[in-house]
Amino acid sequence: MQIDLHTHSTASDGRLAPGVLIKRAAAAGVKALALTDHDGVDGLEEARNTAQSAGIEFINGIELSVTWNNRTVHIVGLNFNPDYEPLQAGIADLQDFRERRAREIAQKLDKAGIHGAYEGAQSFSEGKMLGRMHFANFLVAEGHSKNIRHVFKHYLVANKPGHVSGDWASMEDAVGWITGAGGIAVIAHPARYKLTRTRLRQLIKDFMAAGGQAIEVVSGSHDVNEVKTMAAHAADFDLYASAGSDFHDPDFPWIKLGNLPPLPRQCKPVWDLFL
Ligand code: AMP
Ligand code: MN
Ligand code: MN
Ligand code: MN
Repeated sequence: MQIDLHTHSTASDGRLAPGVLIKRAAAAGVKALALTDHDGVDGLEEARNTAQSAGIEFINGIELSVTWNNRTVHIVGLNFNPDYEPLQAGIADLQDFRERRAREIAQKLDKAGIHGAYEGAQSFSEGKMLGRMHFANFLVAEGHSKNIRHVFKHYLVANKPGHVSGDWASMEDAVGWITGAGGIAVIAHPARYKLTRTRLRQLIKDFMAAGGQAIEVVSGSHDVNEVKTMAAHAADFDLYASAGSDFHDPDFPWIKLGNLPPLPRQCKPVWDLFL
């Protein structure tokens, strides 16, 4: 059964409206889906309403940006009450930082000779949330990069034009908002952080100390070996295992909906907690 617990819509930096995403996922054979937009829950209602008619099980989700040991890591929240007040307040703070950061990114690009980036990025954002993906779309449209991947090598990252360091939520706060709202916290795409084994294990320990219970073992950004490594870590720490595509855009050839490999046999599926 296809279960996808990590996807994005126009409520953050995805290309499809929440309802369109749900219909596409259903058509691709997905039976249960969580919408996990960055630092926001605005897409959940539309997604849930569409899911009912599309015959797909819908799970509330979010992907929170966290600063851990001077790095940005992402924590997915699943099956929580989006109206929980501390979560709402936390989201408001993260969105404030996004707004300030967007102004700063634009200023830095301006100094590098790329003008009008704030308005340009905004033209690719349908919600209130502005992210680096919107700047990436602008940079590609203006001919500074041939594609999104090129942007994230040559702009908006450390030591390149338009880079601004993250000042996101703490691990304790982010995990606390999710569990306080009755949800399950999940470390998103752990292999993407390129941590040494020791540091990854420290990340898992800090996450668990904050109340986290699961880790993405299967992810659209994990290769076969990374899936095996993360399954071993999940077993070691007795964590639940999650699976999510991290789908953003039907034009990105490297991540399709309804196309995830199964969880390795030894894993405890996180969806056993709520499906
Ligand atoms: P932000 O949270 O605004 O800093 O933006 C992070 C987002 O940028 C990620 O969720 C991805 O959507 C996108 N992103 C970051 N690195 C890459 C990459 N190498 N290739 C494609 N998209 C990326
Ligand atoms: Mn994204
Ligand atoms: Mn992420
Ligand atoms: Mn994501």
